[in-house]
Amino acid sequence: MWIDSHAHLDAFVADGSWPEVLAGMRAAQVGSVIAIGGSVAANELALTMAREYAEVHAVVGYDRDEAEREPDFGLLRDLVNAERPVGIGETGLDYYYGQETARQQCALFEQNLSVAAAYGLPVVVHTRDAEDDTYRLLRDFVRAWSGRTNGQESRTDSGSAGRLAPPEENPVAAQIGRANPAKRDEPNRAVLHTAVPGVIHCYTGTAEQALKLLELGFMISFSGIVTFKKSDALREVLKVVPDDRLLIETDAPYLAPVPKRGKRNEPAYVAYVGEGIADYLGRPAAELAQITAQNTRKLFNLPVRG
Ligand SMILES: [Zn+2]
Repeated sequence: MWIDSHAHLDAFVADGSWPEVLAGMRAAQVGSVIAIGGSVAANELALTMAREYAEVHAVVGYDRDEAEREPDFGLLRDLVNAERPVGIGETGLDYYYGQETARQQCALFEQNLSVAAAYGLPVVVHTRDAEDDTYRLLRDFVRAWSGRTNGQESRTDSGSAGRLAPPEENPVAAQIGRANPAKRDEPNRAVLHTAVPGVIHCYTGTAEQALKLLELGFMISFSGIVTFKKSDALREVLKVVPDDRLLIETDAPYLAPVPKRGKRNEPAYVAYVGEGIADYLGRPAAELAQITAQNTRKLFNLPVRG
């Protein structure tokens, strides 16, 4: 059983092909898909799909495209409270397409990270040509985030959280657990803190950068790019990612893996990504399926199914 750890379902819903896409997943032994948000509309869609289909889990947040729109983080916090998404994202920095908005992108990324830290949710990170800023912000995030994991209720060293708002300053976080100890037994985000701070999705960086991100505790996710003929350098990165940090994804509807390259991508094709990696590493595909599905469940705190 495979899991697609990252797909955008909007296009399949818009053109009515979702029932076929879902049937394709089942036929390809893809048991679950993480539906990724990034805007108000995409967040709504991901959450709606997660409500309707047991195979779908939602991640919500504001992507770097939203940097100049000053999106509503009150609304995002309300969604997290009411709908219980499994992660925050996708969010991050893209200086390949948007160097001129670098400052706004960093500010937006930090706000997303602050929500993730407040709720103990993992963050789904996009980064392209922005390695240094991404690393710096994630390092600060992990400090704020792991403060919660370790149950440090009062933080005397407020400087350690960098520029991120510590969880106790977040009124919603206070509301769901800190201000009212009687509520602690309820299944809320303060209790359901995941064990991993997040994932660098659609990884295209170097092995050296991957090692630094692994050291921070992140998982690394490979998309169909890893199956492309020219991706020798990226395949080398596979060798430094330990089994318990490896994820696979489609990033559908983009970046279809070989042998579907050039076609519209869909969650069923995550099996091709996994098979391509298995081939390269000389390991059984079933083993890759098991490892990556288990990691995805751990990252997003998913129920074990199947
Ligand atoms: Zn994506």
